[in-house]
Amino acid sequence: MKEYCFTKEVEGKRIHDNHFQENMYSRSTRRRRRRLWVPGPVIVGAGPSGLATAACLKERGVTSLILERANCIASLWKLKTYDRLRLHLPKNFCELPLLPFPKEFPTYPTKQQFISYLESYAKQFELEPAFNNTVVSAEFDSGCGFWRVRTTVGIKMEEIEYVCQWLIVATGENAEEFVPDFEGMDEFLGPIIHTSEYTNGDCFSGKSVLVVGCGNSGMEVSLDLCNHNARPSLVVRDSVHVLPQEMLGRSTFGLSVQLLKWFPVRLLDRLLLLMSRFILGNTAQLGLNRPKLGPLELKSITGKTPVLDIGALAKIKTGKIKVVRGIKRLMRNSVEFVDGMVESFDAIILATGYRSNVPTWLKENNFFSEKDGFPSRPFPDGWRGHNGLYAVGFTKRGLLGTSMDARRIAEDIKKQWKV
Ligand SMILES: Cc1cc2nc3c(=O)[nH]c(=O)nc-3n(C[C@H](O)[C@H](O)[C@H](O)COP(=O)(O)OP(=O)(O)OC[C@H]3O[C@@H](n4cnc5c(N)ncnc54)[C@H](O)[C@@H]3O)c2cc1C
Repeated sequence: MKEYCFTKEVEGKRIHDNHFQENMYSRSTRRRRRRLWVPGPVIVGAGPSGLATAACLKERGVTSLILERANCIASLWKLKTYDRLRLHLPKNFCELPLLPFPKEFPTYPTKQQFISYLESYAKQFELEPAFNNTVVSAEFDSGCGFWRVRTTVGIKMEEIEYVCQWLIVATGENAEEFVPDFEGMDEFLGPIIHTSEYTNGDCFSGKSVLVVGCGNSGMEVSLDLCNHNARPSLVVRDSVHVLPQEMLGRSTFGLSVQLLKWFPVRLLDRLLLLMSRFILGNTAQLGLNRPKLGPLELKSITGKTPVLDIGALAKIKTGKIKVVRGIKRLMRNSVEFVDGMVESFDAIILATGYRSNVPTWLKENNFFSEKDGFPSRPFPDGWRGHNGLYAVGFTKRGLLGTSMDARRIAEDIKKQWKV
């Protein structure tokens, strides 16, 4: 909270609010509400995006305040990811601005290595977020021309209102778990958990587990369950592109980025699919039908990421991971699928992804879409809104997108800061 030394209580000086004293107490709860003026930008979220933006701002001489609901930086990585997780993409595509990964890190750093990198990042740029600060609303006050950002703090739920000129949304594409509502969900007797609660397969040994969702997380959790002697079944409802993580000795992602400079997307997609067929075989025979659009075209149009296989496909081929159709309903100890098959399960793991939480707290309906909580304008134009509002990390392009946003935002604010 050292960063607060540059904040000061407004006490009616800068914000002309006749009701200041009255506002000191929230009417509904009678809790004390403090109001603080922040001369620099307020950043909501201390994940990689928030940290990267704060670092880029600092490098340009602009001090910011980061508000974070958790009690640590990188809470997604520290608190909501499984043990065996590694970066899905090679490290050169995942480093944040101004600080490369240590040379000794492998091509795909482990979760712990990535966390330690983020810790060093925060230390290097002396970033000290205000933890346990959950932003519950943020609204532009056209009367005074500033953003009013309200948080509840800690278990006492003290309320603070931060007043600032620039608001940077860095709450991420994965802010809240997405939990589908299946018929019979209350009846199922075994545990139903989201992948954000899954650490490893230890407690599932010998158990029959249904993994719902066949993205990178669903595939990887299924593989992990196999390695812990569980019997996973993987629900594959839609079509999915599975690509090998590496091709021709290079990462598939790196190769694609390189080749996109010379080849049109559709041609490259055909090349990728040809290579994948050669390396992985016909995935449709395993119940994994490919979408009509190629992997890169699909990604650019819908943001849907192809699965980069790190061993799950081999387990599907040998029957260690069983592929099943969409769920019709859950029963006490079993699940009925849309093709009529009924099978018993001890537990269900939802690899159903996450969603943005921006519409729940940002009172603004122009820049961010109410529907999905992402900027309405697509990449690369979704980083700057109106009245000093910015978004970082909503590009559906992972940490590479974060770095691009962070630099642009910092540069833009620096110009205004000088003025
Ligand atoms: C399992 C997994 C693996 C991934 N692997 C890769 C990879 O290899 N390469 C890659 O490029 N990308 C990867 N990604 C995608 C993406 O890069 C990461 O999700 C990354 O953490 C995004 O950073 P972020 O800061 O935008 O969001 P987050 O890391 O989600 O950080 C957002 C922060 O905002 C906080 N917050 C949310 N709401 C509020 C609120 N109302 N008030 C205050 N604070 C709030 C959260 O607590 C959180 O700490 C992966 C994602 C997942 C889920």
